[in-house]
Amino acid sequence: MNLSSKAKQIAPSLTLSITAKAKEMSKNGIDVVSFGAGEPDFNTPENIQNAAIKAIKNGLTKYTAASGINELKEAIVNKFKSDNGLDYSNDQIIISTGAKQCLANAFQAILNRGDEVLVPTPYWVSYPELIKLADGVPVFVNNKKSNGYKYSLDVLEECITANTRAIIVNSPNNPTGCIYTRDELKMIADFAKKYNLIIISDEIYEKLIYGDNKHISIASLSEDAYNRAIVINGVSKSYAMTGWRIGYAASSKEIIKLMSSIQSHTTSNPNSIAQYAALEALNGDQSSMNLMVKEFEKRRDSMIDRINKIDKVSCLKADGAFYIMIDVSNFYGKKIKESVINDSLEFSRVLLEEENVAVIPGDAFGLGDYIRVSYATSMENIEKGLEKIQKFLLKLE
Ligand code: PMP
Ligand code: GLU
Repeated sequence: MNLSSKAKQIAPSLTLSITAKAKEMSKNGIDVVSFGAGEPDFNTPENIQNAAIKAIKNGLTKYTAASGINELKEAIVNKFKSDNGLDYSNDQIIISTGAKQCLANAFQAILNRGDEVLVPTPYWVSYPELIKLADGVPVFVNNKKSNGYKYSLDVLEECITANTRAIIVNSPNNPTGCIYTRDELKMIADFAKKYNLIIISDEIYEKLIYGDNKHISIASLSEDAYNRAIVINGVSKSYAMTGWRIGYAASSKEIIKLMSSIQSHTTSNPNSIAQYAALEALNGDQSSMNLMVKEFEKRRDSMIDRINKIDKVSCLKADGAFYIMIDVSNFYGKKIKESVINDSLEFSRVLLEEENVAVIPGDAFGLGDYIRVSYATSMENIEKGLEKIQKFLLKLE
């Protein structure tokens, strides 16, 4: 059968499939430690759960406007104003089925066939595939390790062609956890202005920030940056609501109108009940989120300490999100039983097989020397899992 050649080029999400495999193994009674999770291990706070139950009881279970309910748009407008110093009106906001759908809508709305989008390497798995689905071309910006894998101007300049249309900024970053400073964002904003690029700023990990670090939205740096930005955010990570599927985006009226038209024909409105839950998340008590962030910070510190005690591996400084990238490349070329470990995919596969520890191979993010471990799991699992990784490394010869 002659099926879509575009669809055939799309790789399934490795982050989702590895996490699902680890869940399946534990369901089958295997004692798995999963460092795969791309989601908080906390339950959605009770005030948010109750808002959803109330919405069901009140019959708020029908279609809503395709781009979302006005009350939630207002809450999002207020959030942008108070957290980010950004002024938007309701018609500059779209609410979607997760930040992922916002990104999908955005690429569909701005790209024509062959248009190039600058993607920071390492990148979140879905960016390249979403760009390809919109007939665009992902251009991987090979960020330098010496710059913490953040954009630097010389590397960006090398990637510009006549077809470059947009640049993705992801701070705090998945998978490195790095956070861009004001000066670094200013450099990117100036670069975008010079080449007339749309800035897609994925700020989904905004609230998961540790120590003295601060989140700055690139759209807030200048009127020009504001005008060329599509800001992506959502409640999935901040409020432990990954399964509810609510994300949102803000941009010019023109772009939001296009994104809304697309959404009106693909999924219609995001889940009505989840929208009311998200309304409570943004407007209600924030104390559960603050507790969660404190706990993540403790786990991060303890995980980094423990990783640094393992011989011949190193990890990147992670200031936000809930991931740590561990460089395991010193072990490439080594053998265990019949398997030779030559890359992160093989490393992760054999680690799961031998020690029942699930990690995400760095190859999923275009950074093959690393594995990504998530600390969205208990302290006990962190200790146990890292112990097993250390044991595994000792077996490699
Ligand atoms: N952007 C990044 C960087 C992510 O890690 C995720 C996690 N899935 C998303 C967007 C999508 O979030 P959501 O679950 O709201 O679709
Ligand atoms: N964003 C998370 C991750 O990177 C969740 C999985 C996904 O949506 O890809 O693991």
